[in-house]
Amino acid sequence: MHDINRLLPATPKGWQYELVYKNIRHIYFRIYPDKRTVRISAPARISSKALEGAIQAKSAWLINRMNALSNAPAPFNPLSAIKDSGSCMIWGRQLPVIRGTFNSRPGICLTTESEIIIRVPSGFDAIKEENLWNQWLRSLLNERIQTLLERWQPAMGVAPVEFRLKKMKTRWGSCNTLARRIWLNTVLVHLEPCLLECVVVHELAHLLEPGHTQRFYQIMETYLPDWKAKESLLNKIELRQ
Ligand SMILES: [Zn+2]
Repeated sequence: MHDINRLLPATPKGWQYELVYKNIRHIYFRIYPDKRTVRISAPARISSKALEGAIQAKSAWLINRMNALSNAPAPFNPLSAIKDSGSCMIWGRQLPVIRGTFNSRPGICLTTESEIIIRVPSGFDAIKEENLWNQWLRSLLNERIQTLLERWQPAMGVAPVEFRLKKMKTRWGSCNTLARRIWLNTVLVHLEPCLLECVVVHELAHLLEPGHTQRFYQIMETYLPDWKAKESLLNKIELRQ
């Protein structure tokens, strides 16, 4: 393999390179601003000379792009902050996670100071802890969904048979109009509450109009005049990560 770092221009602070060899014919450079990564995809059998030549030809452009992106505000992607071990994003706010002393039952709670306290015995199983988190996050979502339904069901004159939660990689919500069942993405608990509301109203609107027709958008416009801005924010969030 090639000594890639010798060939590459020095990165601005926080940036890194990633070289992957693939079964392709040409060399590609791709910049991932949220990961501060430049990925170079090179043909598996590329010669050192060809790789060096391609990198040299691109190096001024790479440095320019990295510098420009370093100065730009970070792209809106709350999901990138979720997995930070010392904090957790809840309803669009990054909250500190503190390990409290274990009393009798494992549990997680939110204090009035907006701190998340997790109480588990020392050496608690990682999978059990993950389950505890997921249950807690679901309970936060369920609570807010109930409140939203109390408002929107009578306002829109619709009533789904049930709401269910699921972690989804491609969509924020879906509506089975025949079964009148609505699915919502559990990731919504990390975003601002108005975005959950937008998804709830969108899925309820499908009970009035199944397709994304002119009529559907009119319904959205009637109940949530700023739905477009909210949906465009949701569409900017990369769910596959
Ligand atoms: Zn839809």
